Amino acid sequence: MCIFCKIVEGEIPSNKVLENDDFIAFHDLYPKAPIHILIIPKEHVACFQEVSGEMMAKMTPFIQEVATLTGVDKSGYRLTTNNGDDGGQEVHHLHFHLMGGAKLPFEHRSDDTHSSL
Ligand code: AMP
Repeated sequence: MCIFCKIVEGEIPSNKVLENDDFIAFHDLYPKAPIHILIIPKEHVACFQEVSGEMMAKMTPFIQEVATLTGVDKSGYRLTTNNGDDGGQEVHHLHFHLMGGAKLPFEHRSDDTHSSL
């Protein structure tokens, strides 16, 4: 069983902020922003590439509610998912990182010198 399935089953503790029948949101153990929440489906889905449109349709309002609950809905936040090896995915159970609470650096633009944007 993967580590996030163990969190779903309550075998590993988590600091939950919101839960319903389908999803759980909990604080990242190693936060990279003042607010850093992970949002996962209870059903094991390996990564974003494998998630159904039906699940995403239900997950979207759940994520928006997490943003409101954690107080970043107006100030702004970053929502990311790392997909597969090149995307840097370490836990192979779909999760979105919701990060906010401060102006976040644009780490993904570190190679801007090679870009005309
Ligand atoms: P990723 O690299 O996108 O797969 O992200 C995995 C995230 O899970 C990392 O930000 C970790 O800090 C976080 N993480 C790993 N184990 C736990 C845990 N038991 N509880 C909360 N967050 C965790």
